[in-house]
Amino acid sequence: TYDVLVVGGGPAGAAAAIYAARKGIRTGLVAERFGGQVMDTMGIENFISVPYTEGPKLAASLEAHVKEYGVDIISGQRVANVSRDGEVQVALESGATLKSRSLVLATGARWRSLGVPGEAEYKTKGVAYCPHCDGPFFKGKKVAVIGGGNSGIEAAIDLAGIVEHVTVLEFADTLRADDVLVKKAKSLNNVDIITNAQTTEVLGDGSKVNGLAYTDRVSGEAKKLDLAGVFVQIGLVPNTEFLKESEIELTRFGEVIIDAKGATSLPGVFAAGDATTVPYKQIVISMGAGATAALSAFDYLIRS
Ligand code: FAD
Repeated sequence: TYDVLVVGGGPAGAAAAIYAARKGIRTGLVAERFGGQVMDTMGIENFISVPYTEGPKLAASLEAHVKEYGVDIISGQRVANVSRDGEVQVALESGATLKSRSLVLATGARWRSLGVPGEAEYKTKGVAYCPHCDGPFFKGKKVAVIGGGNSGIEAAIDLAGIVEHVTVLEFADTLRADDVLVKKAKSLNNVDIITNAQTTEVLGDGSKVNGLAYTDRVSGEAKKLDLAGVFVQIGLVPNTEFLKESEIELTRFGEVIIDAKGATSLPGVFAAGDATTVPYKQIVISMGAGATAALSAFDYLIRS
C-alpha cells in the first residue's frame, strides 16, 4: 500500500510525485508513458527560467528528478478504474490492482486532431495545437486556425498580434464562439473568417507546412491557402474515460472537477493538470497544480 499514488507521468504527475516523496511517505507513480504531452513537443520557450528546451529533453529531466527520490515508478501501464474501499484501489488494464491511502490523478489531455492527410506528417513542422506555446514561432508569417469555437477565435485574436495574417476556417455555417470574441476578431484587419470550410489536407514541401486545402461546402469548390502554420483548435480531450464509472465527478467535457486545493469529489483523491477543470493548460501550470495536489494529499493523510 502506498501513501500517495500518482497516476500520470507528465509535468503534473512528476511534480506531485516529487512533492509527496519529499515528505518521506511511500510514493508510487503509474503512467502509460512517462513525459506525457511533453514528449510530443519540439521547442519549449515558456518554461520559466529555461529560455529554450525541447520536449524529450525536459521529459528526461522530469524522470531523472523523480527517480532521485526513490519513487516507485510503474510505467507502460494503463489505469482502467479507480474506486474506494477503505483504501483507494487503482485497477490496471493488465488486471493488477494497486492500493494507496491517497491518490493524485494527473492523466492529462490530448488535442483532438483533424485526421486529414498531412496533419500528422507536419506536426511540430507547422501544424500546431497551442497558440500560447507556438504562436511566436510564426512571427511575421501567415497562419490558419481551424475551428470557430471559443478556443479557435481566442487563438485567432492572440495570433493576430504576432503573425502577419490569420485565416479562421470553420466547418459549420456559423461560428460557435461567444459574440464578444467574434466581434473582436472581425474588428482586426489581419484576420479573415471563412465558414462552411472543410479542411481536406495540410500541404507541405516535405519538411514544413506551406499551405492548406479546403472545400467550400456551399459551392463544392476546392480551394487552397498559402501559409506557414496551421493551428488546430477543435477541442482538448481530457484522458479521463476510465473515470466515467467511478464516483469522481467530471464536467460534461470529462474534466475532473477540483477545488483550489486540488481535491476531487472523492475523499483522499486529488487531481492536477490538463485532466482537470484548471483554466489554461500549460507545463508550468500543471507543475504547480501537481505540487498543490501532493501537498493536499499529505495534509489529508496527517488528518486521517
Ligand atoms: P500530460 O503531459 O498529458 O501527461 C499525462 C500523463 O498521464 C502521461 O504520462 C500519460 O501517459 C498518462 N496517462 C494518461 N492516461 C492514463 C491512464 N489511463 N493510465 C495511466 N497513465 C495515463 N505547454 C507549455 O507550457 N509550453 C509549450 O511550449 C507547450 N507545447 C505543447 C506542444 C504540444 C504539441 C502539445 C500537445 C502540448 C504542449 N503544451 C505546452 C501543453 C503541455 O504539454 C501540457 O499542458 C502538459 O504536458 C500537461 O501536463 P499533465 O501532466 O497534466 O498531462
